[in-house]
Amino acid sequence: MGPPGAGKGTQANLLAVSRHLVKLSTGDMLRTHVKAGTELGARAKLVMDEGGLVSDDIIISMVKAELDQLDPIRVLLDGFPRTTGQAEALDELLASYGAGIDAAIELRVDDAELVRRLLGRGQQEGRSDDNEATIRRRMAVYHEQTKPLLDYYRQQGKVRDVDGVGTTDDVFQRIDGALETEPV
Ligand code: AMP
Repeated sequence: MGPPGAGKGTQANLLAVSRHLVKLSTGDMLRTHVKAGTELGARAKLVMDEGGLVSDDIIISMVKAELDQLDPIRVLLDGFPRTTGQAEALDELLASYGAGIDAAIELRVDDAELVRRLLGRGQQEGRSDDNEATIRRRMAVYHEQTKPLLDYYRQQGKVRDVDGVGTTDDVFQRIDGALETEPV
């Protein structure tokens, strides 16, 4: 977990490979729908371009469809859950498979650094939601709706806080180390 631009996608890719996990990114799934021109993609694009959140129902059914295909469930979730509703639905879903969450990683990066990174990514990758107005909205949504989830996982003793500023490799080593320690 972490605000937009914290490096979740990059670190999730590395961690999935090193720990032999299947990476599930709800943002990537939505972008695949947008590219394929599905009805869901068209609806999601409107929300994504505004920096809002796609409805819990859509997100949960997309994740369920992926999890249903896995046995055992060894996944790294990137960008999900983002709301309390999603977190509760995820717990129920995982419990129905006899699985559960082992750890929630929080990547910490300050706001000025985030805007700098995201504007750079917008230019390089051409993501239509990486413009300044949308970035500000996505950050606000993160602080209002997603950050409180850290308390939900902290109460369960599952959160590892990691400093997300540094080289990709530095941050990866920190995450890797944090997963070997006791949660905070
Ligand atoms: P991301 O690639 O994770 O930064 O997601 C890009 C955009 O996709 C977000 O700003 C949301 O509009 C949408 N999105 C991705 N994951 C979720 C989710 N779990 N819940 C709601 N919206 C999501």
